[in-house]
Amino acid sequence: MSSSLNKNDVILLKWLLRQSKNGEEVYQSMIPVKTKLNPKVVSKVLNKLEKIGVIERVPIIYNKRKTYIVKPNVEIAIKVLKEIGEDYVDIDEVVREVLSIPCISCPQTEKCYEGGFYDPVFCPLLTEYIKSKTNMKNKEQNYTFKIFKPS
Ligand code: SF4
Repeated sequence: MSSSLNKNDVILLKWLLRQSKNGEEVYQSMIPVKTKLNPKVVSKVLNKLEKIGVIERVPIIYNKRKTYIVKPNVEIAIKVLKEIGEDYVDIDEVVREVLSIPCISCPQTEKCYEGGFYDPVFCPLLTEYIKSKTNMKNKEQNYTFKIFKPS
């Protein structure tokens, strides 16, 4: 179960998500230096995160040493964190969400009110938006995260 993620797993996963947000390439060999975590702990955590599918590792030679580029699978990682009650706020996603509300860019906003000529109750744009959000919510609820048990 994803709820078996421990404190270090969560800390490192969130850290990787932040790095990927900044567009930074993360080398496994540099993670202990940057996070101050013990290299053995880092290696153990990454093995586990890779097994459950929340990160991917690509082998590479860096500073003449074999290591990996570590990338989080952002969507899955955020879902898993939410599943275990850990917050991860993706600011870009929040901004996108807010901007997708039709009233934000509607020229009739100031004239729109219940019972008015423009009425949110009968607005096709708002109705369509709410329908799409409801469909997304239903899909999310049907989503079953397949997790692999560590061997
Ligand atoms: S409810 Fe419709 S008409 Fe009213 S502000 Fe929102 S998008 Fe515009």
